[in-house]
Amino acid sequence: MTATENPSIAKSKLNTVCPQCGDNNSQPCLAVYNAGTANIATASVITTGVQQTKLAAQCAPPPLRGLGKAWDGVIGSYIVLCFLTGGLLLIAFPIFVIVMIGMGVAESKHRAFNRIEWPKLNAAWERMWVCQKCHHQFDPGNIPCQN
Ligand SMILES: [Zn+2]
Repeated sequence: MTATENPSIAKSKLNTVCPQCGDNNSQPCLAVYNAGTANIATASVITTGVQQTKLAAQCAPPPLRGLGKAWDGVIGSYIVLCFLTGGLLLIAFPIFVIVMIGMGVAESKHRAFNRIEWPKLNAAWERMWVCQKCHHQFDPGNIPCQN
């Protein structure tokens, strides 16, 4: 079990005094994020989303990159335009292909980031702690222990 998986054990080995305000009431960002974030999914009325405290939002992990719903938007817009205009299909198709190639290049860069850079950022985030008093985030492993 690593220090980030069990904060109570980790706190005795790390210097968790806030380097900004000197307060000793800090928690791992991972724990604050998980405690302050709830996924919402209701069945009676179709509602989905995330309910999150402000501190949990500040302690969020680094986001993965990607075009996500932009693909749906471009493809959907093209299909709708084709239906609405009929003859636009042949004129707009080369533009559509160029846009799709550009999006494919961008998406491949995002995937490379997610595969190579994001794991490093996420590992750094998992080491971060947050001060409950001033909300400063810090890595207790990078501060010389004063105890
Ligand atoms: Zn502080």
